Amino acid sequence: MKKKQKSRAEKTAENYFPVDEDDLKNTTEKQIRPPLPRKEFLKKSIEIEVKPQLSEKEIVKGTVEKAYNKPDRRDLESIEGVESSENVPKKTRGKTRSRKPSLKTKIRKTKSPRTTTKQVKYSPEKISLKSEGYELIITEKPQAANKIATALGKATQRVSNKVSYYDLNKNGKEIVVACAVGHLLTLKQKVMGSQIPIFDIGWVPNYLARKGDFTKRYYDTIKQLAKNARSITIATDYDIEGEVIGLNVVRYICGQKDANRMKFSTLTTKEINDAYENKKPHLDWAQAIAGETRNYLDWFYGINLSRALMNAIKTTGSFRIMSIGRVQGPALKLIVDKEREILNFKTETYWQPFITISNGKNKLELKYVKDIFSPEGVPNWDKEELKKFENLKGQKAQASTTKSEEILPPNPPFDLTTLQTEAYKFYGITPSKTLQAAQSLYLGGLISYPRTSSQKLPDSIDYKTILETMAKKYKAEKLITKNKPIEGKKTDPAHPSIYPTGNFQILSGDEEKIYNLIARRFLSLFCDDAIIDKKRIAAITENNLTFSTRGSAIRKKGWLEVYPSKLKETEVPDMEGEVEIIDSRIEEKQTQPPKRFSPASIISELEKKNLGTKATRANILETLYDRGYVKGQSITATPLGMSLIETLEKYSPIIIDEKLTRKFENEMESITKSKGDYEKREEKIINEAKETITEIAKDFEKKEKSIGKELLNAQNKQRKQQKIENTLVQCPKCKKGNLAITYSRKNRRSFIACDAYPNCKTTYSLPPNGTIKKIDNICEKCGFPLLMSLRKGKKPWIFCFNTECETNKERLEEYRKKKEAKNN
Ligand SMILES: [Zn+2]
Ligand SMILES: [Zn+2]
Repeated sequence: MKKKQKSRAEKTAENYFPVDEDDLKNTTEKQIRPPLPRKEFLKKSIEIEVKPQLSEKEIVKGTVEKAYNKPDRRDLESIEGVESSENVPKKTRGKTRSRKPSLKTKIRKTKSPRTTTKQVKYSPEKISLKSEGYELIITEKPQAANKIATALGKATQRVSNKVSYYDLNKNGKEIVVACAVGHLLTLKQKVMGSQIPIFDIGWVPNYLARKGDFTKRYYDTIKQLAKNARSITIATDYDIEGEVIGLNVVRYICGQKDANRMKFSTLTTKEINDAYENKKPHLDWAQAIAGETRNYLDWFYGINLSRALMNAIKTTGSFRIMSIGRVQGPALKLIVDKEREILNFKTETYWQPFITISNGKNKLELKYVKDIFSPEGVPNWDKEELKKFENLKGQKAQASTTKSEEILPPNPPFDLTTLQTEAYKFYGITPSKTLQAAQSLYLGGLISYPRTSSQKLPDSIDYKTILETMAKKYKAEKLITKNKPIEGKKTDPAHPSIYPTGNFQILSGDEEKIYNLIARRFLSLFCDDAIIDKKRIAAITENNLTFSTRGSAIRKKGWLEVYPSKLKETEVPDMEGEVEIIDSRIEEKQTQPPKRFSPASIISELEKKNLGTKATRANILETLYDRGYVKGQSITATPLGMSLIETLEKYSPIIIDEKLTRKFENEMESITKSKGDYEKREEKIINEAKETITEIAKDFEKKEKSIGKELLNAQNKQRKQQKIENTLVQCPKCKKGNLAITYSRKNRRSFIACDAYPNCKTTYSLPPNGTIKKIDNICEKCGFPLLMSLRKGKKPWIFCFNTECETNKERLEEYRKKKEAKNN
């Protein structure tokens, strides 16, 4: 395998901006040796003592997004990529897999440097399990393998080809625990061409679909270990994607039809051992088929629709990457509709009269009970109406105070969406970051499985012991008054609500915040209701106008002592009987357009509409950002997003039909709930999807040119806008061009270049693997505009890109010293 050539710009960038090992993981392609026989394999592997926890580096990046199979950009770029071959088997699955799948895929050379020209063959090896040997347990992630191995017994960690696995002995039985890293196989088209519709697809290993894919090491390790195994047990996350990951490992890598299945919601020693003792002799086929159906549907939609869009653009003689997915379409439409509401919103003026009353002791401002709007077509109505409020000062009024109490019970346990909403509300953490943090807490054995829609806390999880530990830790013993927790209505067949396991670890950043929120929510379930004293003060003037205001005070905090709240207390004095109006005023106001969605509120909206799943919603939103269809924390549809929806509404409304998306969603859910008949149901759904997509393809063919023209215009408009947004400052070298953030498709990274190229070749490099944004500040030392680099899971970094700048000299010097220290 040839090492990827680095461009000069890239090399400069690496010297200039220290590259993390994390980055290297994704950018360097390593030579992979063929697997060795077991003995050789063991000899070559390193044996190390098991650490209780793997380092962060072992948790390979990108696997958190396992639940969403978005069309790979490279699939789209190499749109003419895949050539057909004879001998293509029908889609295979556990029961029909006796036919050996052999898939020949040839990828034609295209402009993209990433597609391979080599002919790709995939025929999974047949493996017979041994009558003697070990039980091979497969987890979804490296960290889970470590947790499970150490929970089951005294384990030895081995590292082969940089992949860890574990040997252990449990009651005289040999067990090996190995791991996947999310999906090791991916769906890929079997025939050539960019025609649509295309439905002939099958699973191939990631490393055959994408050159230099890092998951090959894991694939090879599992395959090697399976050869000496007596039985296979799947211990991936217990949900539909986890089941598909397990199913693919079983049928393609281990060459088996079925396997044992461990089911657990927390990675605690007790639950892992229970799950091991009570493992099922079969995969959860309902989940597996439901998951596979979802993968197929997402591929069908993602690739076919995106190609339809791009083919349409091609008819105009241009080429642009553009994509849309099954749930992305309806999700984007929600945002665009909101944008339209805002654009079409006509502000109206209205008035709010206020009076200040006094009883000699206290004074208080009250608002007129109605807002005053002018009825349409009645000129000067408001002026007449407002006259009533002119001479109130100095008059008397009759005041009265009404008191009531409100009982505020604790909120139900966390399901994923509620956790995401609350994390955004209290800390501004986005839904995808929350999921990422929760996932990592789960892998650390600190909380239960976060991808759940349950608001239940069943007795079986022994919450009493957890409660004791947690209450002590949070010094909340006195507040715990109930034996049974509050529960909500929502359920989930696979997991309970999100709860802490009672294990602790020192945490920081988002993880600490999310953990505390989960712990406090859990404690609050067992606390007393809060009691709020409410008060309404009203005053009626001599001319019979009613004014009022409200006050509230927390009488009993109850659960509010452990869980954060944005509840505000407003103190107001009691007012009774005759009072004097000592002041009055009228405020002129404007009606406000509806609020845009926030990352949290769009996720709740998608859930309300049953679009997407708890595991995919955060990713769907991320994709809309990635594609440039939406932007900002207060989510705004971009011109591109707006015209995409406009075009689709005009020519192929079925793509963005939320009812249809929901119908598929419900049907897929019904597979997990059904008993048997899974494959029949799968076939029915897939056939429906094929029909729909074929219909869409026909729609597109008829109006391809018009669609293409509109999409191209939108793209160009967006580019122009982006160019303006990316322009930074006049080029200091040529003083003619402007410096702008530019993206190099070849190197897949951004850099800064003078737009007078090729006359001026001034460039500056930028940190790799981040999204670069312009911010409105300039560098205090050199006057260059400052930039911000955003990376998943990292704090935003603000920096000056001027290599000559003093700020960078310090940083480079520090880097040089660190490097020297490391080498010594
Ligand atoms: Zn220049
Ligand atoms: Zn500077």
